[in-house]
Amino acid sequence: MTRRAQHFREEAAEFFWPTRCVGCNMPGALLCPSCEEELPWIDQRWSCPLCGAPYGWLTCTECDRSRDNDAEGEPQAHEEQLRAHWPARAAICAFPFDGTPAHMVTLLKDAHELRLAPLMAGALVRALEDARDVPALDGRPRFASEDIDAVCFVPATPAAYARRGFDHMELVATPLAQKLGLPLADVLARADARDQRLLGKEARAANLSGNVAALDDLTGLRLLLVDDVITTGSSIAAATHALLARGAREVTACAFARVW
Ligand SMILES: [Zn+2]
Ligand SMILES: [Zn+2]
Repeated sequence: MTRRAQHFREEAAEFFWPTRCVGCNMPGALLCPSCEEELPWIDQRWSCPLCGAPYGWLTCTECDRSRDNDAEGEPQAHEEQLRAHWPARAAICAFPFDGTPAHMVTLLKDAHELRLAPLMAGALVRALEDARDVPALDGRPRFASEDIDAVCFVPATPAAYARRGFDHMELVATPLAQKLGLPLADVLARADARDQRLLGKEARAANLSGNVAALDDLTGLRLLLVDDVITTGSSIAAATHALLARGAREVTACAFARVW
């Protein structure tokens, strides 16, 4: 299609199906100023440093992290279990998964509203900047772009990719990396069990857990791992373990929204 034809098609689409706000459905902007104003940002000062839940700063019922470490039984076993499930050094989430942010995720994924991807990347940048002033469990800022070597993302399953024809997290991670001035490392792949043979030996070993594998040697790299939504934390954990298994030094996780 020529550029003029493309332009005409976009104009025609805008005429027949005008852009509507993802929050209030009013025609005009993709996100109108008042819905943008009302976005329910997670206050990073009160959020859980480990799992990104909105109010888990002191104790967190979502990841079962307790500052007093007063869990019954062996605190060390509890700590190990916690770390196995939340292997990233911190998790930063922009919004609770509800209302407009939840709608944005659904529209990007299932209604192919791809113009939301850079908007979501912008929201992630703001959440990450807020997280700079708040310590992670290791005492360092939860996020500092100078402490990150590359941005990577949790890839879509082969089935989802085939269905949609695009990887929505790649569409978010690309402008995110650009805005942060960091390289994008497209290093994770999800494989069906039958695709295991396509992977190398280390990747195959990593692939045993969670069907996600890192395809490259990541020795010494500090990575920012991006996903759309953190629910139980399982997929971000599997992806983090896959990155660490290939030598990544540390992984900081971030997600557009947090179910809690
Ligand atoms: Zn609106
Ligand atoms: Zn937590």
